[in-house]
Amino acid sequence: MCGIVGYVGQGNALSILIESLKRLEYRGYDSAGIALQNGKGIEIYKTKGKINDLQKILPNHSHDITIGLGHTRWATHGAPSERNAHPHTTEGVSVVHNGIVENYRDLKSLLLSEGHQFSSDTDTEVIPQMISRYLAKGLQLREAIKNAVTHLRGTFAVGIMSESHRDVLYAVKRGSPLVIGLGEKEFFFASDIPALLPYTRRFIYLEDGQICRITKEGIEIEYLEAEDRA
Ligand code: GLU
Repeated sequence: MCGIVGYVGQGNALSILIESLKRLEYRGYDSAGIALQNGKGIEIYKTKGKINDLQKILPNHSHDITIGLGHTRWATHGAPSERNAHPHTTEGVSVVHNGIVENYRDLKSLLLSEGHQFSSDTDTEVIPQMISRYLAKGLQLREAIKNAVTHLRGTFAVGIMSESHRDVLYAVKRGSPLVIGLGEKEFFFASDIPALLPYTRRFIYLEDGQICRITKEGIEIEYLEAEDRA
């Protein structure tokens, strides 16, 4: 197991993500990472080791950043390393993932045959690669995510952020736990409720096969029935 967290609102995303990740440490992990949307692009910080190690490489200029993702990894595919730590980013789309993509070899072969280049040894990286494949076909982000996820076999809870959608997070899940935390002009997701207890007592459990679009104004949940899969 590992942990994923996401935040969008008006607060200091980095400190909220770090506190939430620390509250998921009991689940075990071997590396950790953060993605921050800074208004111009996505900054990624990740390392093998503990959250204390991650904190040594975090920026101190990030107080104004109000949206981001966090991850603690328990390696299943690919050694524990900075290269394999999440978030994984393809073409400006960053992903944190809890679970296993059982058919990642088939998907990776397909993507490699189409010219995609991988930068990790994980099963997870097929997710942002698949999303970018559908974006390249002209789909909007939400439809690209839905189409990408239809290819995945296995279990997942996934958090997604795109540098071209600066105010939006997406969360999708099948088989791995994911809870949405509801605040006032701020919303969260996490693998487990204790991660978010300093911030809210109002939660929605995302169901298997659902996608949640999250902004600081609110959330929209729908089922993952993809159209135009190709
Ligand atoms: N299977 C993914 C990996 O090895 C995610 C593992 C996890 O749930 O932490 O990177």
